[in-house]
Amino acid sequence: MTPLRVLKFGGSSVGAADRLIRVTDLIARERALGPIAVVVSAMGDTTDWLIDAARVAAKGDVLAADPILDRVAGLAIDTSRGALRELLRRSSETDSASDPSDARAPHPDIPAHVTSLLLPLRQVLTGVALLRQCTPQTLDLVLSFGERLSASILAALLPLAGLPAVFVDARDWLVTDDRFGAALVDQDASHDRLAALRPGWGDVVAVHTGFLGATPDGRSTTLGRNGSDYTATLLASALRAAEVQIWTDVPGVMTGDPTILRDAYPIARMSYQEALELANFGARMFHPRTMVPLIERRIALRIRSTMDPDAEGTRIDERGAEAAGPTCVTSLEKLALLDLRWRRISHEAGVGARVLRALEQAGITVWMANQAAHGQAVAVVIPQESAEQASAAIDAELALERARGEVDSPGVRAPITLLTLVAERMDPRSAAAQFFRALGQVGVPVRAIAQGMSSRSISCAIDGGETALAVRTVHAAFNFAHEEISLLILGHGTVGAQLLAQIQQQQAALRKHHGIALRVVGLADRARALFEPQGLELGRWQAHLAEAPALASSDTLTALTPLLDRLRRLPAPVLVDCTAADGMGPVYAEAFARGIHVVSANKKPLTLGTGPDGQLRAAARSAHAAWRYETTVGASLPVIATLADLVRTGDRVHRVEGSFSGSLGYIAGEVMRGVPLSQAVRQARQRGYTEPHPRDDLSGLDVARKALILARELGLTLELAQIHVHPLVHSDLLAEDDLERFFTGLADYDSTFAASLAELKARGRVLRYLARIDLAPDTGEFRVRVGPIDVAPDHPAATLKGAEAFVAFTTERYEEYPLVVRGAGAGGAVTAAGVLADVLKIAQTLRGR
Ligand code: ASP
Ligand code: MG
Repeated sequence: MTPLRVLKFGGSSVGAADRLIRVTDLIARERALGPIAVVVSAMGDTTDWLIDAARVAAKGDVLAADPILDRVAGLAIDTSRGALRELLRRSSETDSASDPSDARAPHPDIPAHVTSLLLPLRQVLTGVALLRQCTPQTLDLVLSFGERLSASILAALLPLAGLPAVFVDARDWLVTDDRFGAALVDQDASHDRLAALRPGWGDVVAVHTGFLGATPDGRSTTLGRNGSDYTATLLASALRAAEVQIWTDVPGVMTGDPTILRDAYPIARMSYQEALELANFGARMFHPRTMVPLIERRIALRIRSTMDPDAEGTRIDERGAEAAGPTCVTSLEKLALLDLRWRRISHEAGVGARVLRALEQAGITVWMANQAAHGQAVAVVIPQESAEQASAAIDAELALERARGEVDSPGVRAPITLLTLVAERMDPRSAAAQFFRALGQVGVPVRAIAQGMSSRSISCAIDGGETALAVRTVHAAFNFAHEEISLLILGHGTVGAQLLAQIQQQQAALRKHHGIALRVVGLADRARALFEPQGLELGRWQAHLAEAPALASSDTLTALTPLLDRLRRLPAPVLVDCTAADGMGPVYAEAFARGIHVVSANKKPLTLGTGPDGQLRAAARSAHAAWRYETTVGASLPVIATLADLVRTGDRVHRVEGSFSGSLGYIAGEVMRGVPLSQAVRQARQRGYTEPHPRDDLSGLDVARKALILARELGLTLELAQIHVHPLVHSDLLAEDDLERFFTGLADYDSTFAASLAELKARGRVLRYLARIDLAPDTGEFRVRVGPIDVAPDHPAATLKGAEAFVAFTTERYEEYPLVVRGAGAGGAVTAAGVLADVLKIAQTLRGR
């Protein structure tokens, strides 16, 4: 026989008609799998309302409590009426086919039931009003009506769903002491009573009230707020159940606060110890003592979602998860940090202990306490709402010391958030180092660190305003879900627009198959910028950008610095430069200074004078920021990476030769086929192979820049001016700024160009535009040349087609047969893919950290 399971449903699961129906369905479904018992909380906010009712009654005005009670009754009636109607509708559908005179469950008269159940409550409140006093004992009696309502209603509805059920008032078996409001349970006595009652229910579904108990002499008690979970685990222990299922509206214990993290996800398995740790550090999911009955009897606890009943949820048991690693990050907000510092060495010993005792006596929860070893400084983290009361309690306790001028009143800092990483199966030292490093990198100041860090968790107090950033950072740093990458993209021309499209297309697959969450958090052009830490809506960036406010400054650096300041506070920040703009060097410098990684498709910052360029590299290095720029030579072809590997592995490069201008390669190919020069250039531009003004290609300047980037990758200290550049056409033709006039000028030159080409063809040669870096064997100096060259038909460049590019590395190792990289070397799509690859490589390196 399947062992018994206990199902607990919280207040929100039974607080609306459709939800209540869902609960009856779930109970039916689970019952079909084996025997179950059910525990429910009061509907919705009933408990809070009952507390209000008692409070106003205690002021002497019983009439003021009436509307509140009406609200309690109204919720119960509306909810159960709605559910009843649906259950009846369903049973009439199934009944119409069968015998109408069958033994259908009688319709419960719910309004009458609610009214009669609440009658004694009205009497109790009248008593409260007359006495003008509501003792904790009375309050517990008042609160008991909430669970009695919900459990009795559910038990009355279940038969209509075909499930015989019985209502069990847990006050009949759950024996407690008389600490009203938070009574302590006598487990043995409770077990005995339950054992005696149980045969009375047979195998129908028993629906127990959560939260409630009674003293041995029958006075009502409660187990403390949210105590229904505890009822469920006590019941499970008494019945020797195999499992407790807490049904709620979240998918399980999450890896972090889902209101802060978009990629928080339910933890599949965790151990009792981790759950206890979580409970201690503010996961409001369970109270530590809830776990106790389970641990004793090794009963598993499962958190499941009524919204997604087929999901596994979180299972908490003795074993926990198999794999090592952190479990989750919790953030307990709305706290205050009280800080006491001694001005003079005190004579008194044990002041810290006195402070804690004073707080305990004032009934204030202390979430974290930190006492300097010499005893002359104490910091405590307490609920923000208790800050004043706590200060007063401490002042009273230390009145003498204050009078002697040894200590001031505590400094109060609020709001404070207690951030905790639960990591049972981690090396605590490395976890702590990584935890604090991650916070430090994004500039979150740590206000206090828990002194007696348990080996299962690490906590610290941070400013409340930093909560979201800190949670996201820690969540990302420990790879709970994915490596999160935050991208600020500059420029949305051919490359930028393609990149945005590719990211949109790849995002889901990257997340699913590679655990990388790429988030485009910002997009800027010269005029406008969008920034959204949660990520832009990639399908609609055009419209959103058009509506975005204009940049505050026309100066690139001034305009972008505030964006960099925001970017640096997000996980794994990367600046992606898809512009061809001048003046980006200082922007990169500011990015590196903030620990932001940079991916450039823009060649210009890489070809600045050696001074600033050298400084940029050094800046990147000292900030441990990555700088990748593979697409600056040969689009996404692995040219830079290949060369870097050769250099790194100690090969000696003799020559680098290549046609790595997709545009000039394409133009050369076209003119060789007989296309007039001006037309070939126009086509190249239309296909996105050229720079915005094709002169930058025809002048050879673009190729020269690429050659310079390669030369510098080789380790040469070289300036752009030192490269010998021969333009494809005479430089006079290139002076024209206006595009149309430029093309007209070029057309006039077509026939001259064609004539020289005919002569070249007659010699059996092929026109190409090449860059060459040669090592002069005698001097050991490199020479970099760029220009049009006629090559033999068997030269690798001669067979290039379209925008194909090639680079040949002749080295000591690749002497006889050079290492050749060849393929499409221009175009928005391949360049964007190369940029994306650079971003992903950064993600990979980060993962390894
Ligand atoms: N109804 C009680 C409360 O609101 C107990 C519970 O929900 O678990 O605290
Ligand atoms: Mg509750």
